[in-house]
Amino acid sequence: MFRTLTYTSTFAIAAAVGLSLAAPVIAQQVEEAPSTVNATYVSESATRALAPGEKIENLYIKNATQDYILQRMTDRVYFFQRQFYGTIFYVGDEGVLLFDALEGRAQAIEAAIDEVTDLPVTAILYSHNHADHIAGAAALIEANPGVRVIATQATVDLMDRLGSGLPRPTEVIASDAGSFTFEDLTVRVAAFDAEAHAHDHAAYVLEGTGVVHVPDVINPDQPPFWSFAGAEGYLGYRDLIDQFDALDWEYLSGGHGNVGSRADVAFYRDFLDDLEAAVGEALGSVPWGAGIEDPASLNAHTAFLSNWIAEVGQRATETLRPKYGAFYGFDYATPKNAEMVAMYLFSYR
Ligand SMILES: [Zn+2]
Repeated sequence: MFRTLTYTSTFAIAAAVGLSLAAPVIAQQVEEAPSTVNATYVSESATRALAPGEKIENLYIKNATQDYILQRMTDRVYFFQRQFYGTIFYVGDEGVLLFDALEGRAQAIEAAIDEVTDLPVTAILYSHNHADHIAGAAALIEANPGVRVIATQATVDLMDRLGSGLPRPTEVIASDAGSFTFEDLTVRVAAFDAEAHAHDHAAYVLEGTGVVHVPDVINPDQPPFWSFAGAEGYLGYRDLIDQFDALDWEYLSGGHGNVGSRADVAFYRDFLDDLEAAVGEALGSVPWGAGIEDPASLNAHTAFLSNWIAEVGQRATETLRPKYGAFYGFDYATPKNAEMVAMYLFSYR
């Protein structure tokens, strides 16, 4: 019963997301939000590699109007994005290694790869077991017979536990090895200690390329996404950032947002410092009972905590607005994130 419900709701969500993203409505001359890191923007190019810190210009409008975005990151690594979901692929001598088979984007991924090589996809990595990042696997496996599907033991275990309906990996990355190879490339796997985003999450360093693939922790050139990009709580979220910041890389593939750099890590640290301070101040100044107009009309105590936390989230959001309010998606993400930080600070004292 549980599994049926889970599957049904996942399917319904996927359908809803697919529908809403299939027909984006944007103004003709919408203005992009300012860069969070004072980025150097360059024109999208499938042939010119990026210097560390360079970002793709007009990324929001491109997501809303183009079939996909394809950018050469380094010698053999390419950045792909379609409708706000991104990933990377590595072009070897005999085949292509794809990091994550993004849901509903298999055809576009194949088209992008075909722009730069005649080689087939010979391996797919599942970075973590979240369907929105890997549910395109079935179509890619069908189109590329014999393709390797690679994941950590943690991902395999989680798929088994949840009775996942997605294609299972054909190869498991041994926990003690901490890496896998694809042709001459070694991909170093740094499993996260904290389970803030997912129970099986990890960072993947493409050794010798300067690239790290870490979906759903930092959205480069943006403040944190709503609910910290699907985190189950704020506890451990900063640990994820600290852990992959300690690795050796210059280019970040964050799964969403632009191509990232160390400047994006620094921006997140500053933002989280300010967010925690603003929430702490709000917790001390927003009175218990805030948000409830007529306590005498209630027949449930439930109103108090939920309303208070919502008011704290709003207060903290307003504190941050002068410094951060113009950045990408600020109004849609910050109140919820402030509420999550509020519950964290409220719970752990
Ligand atoms: Zn995820």
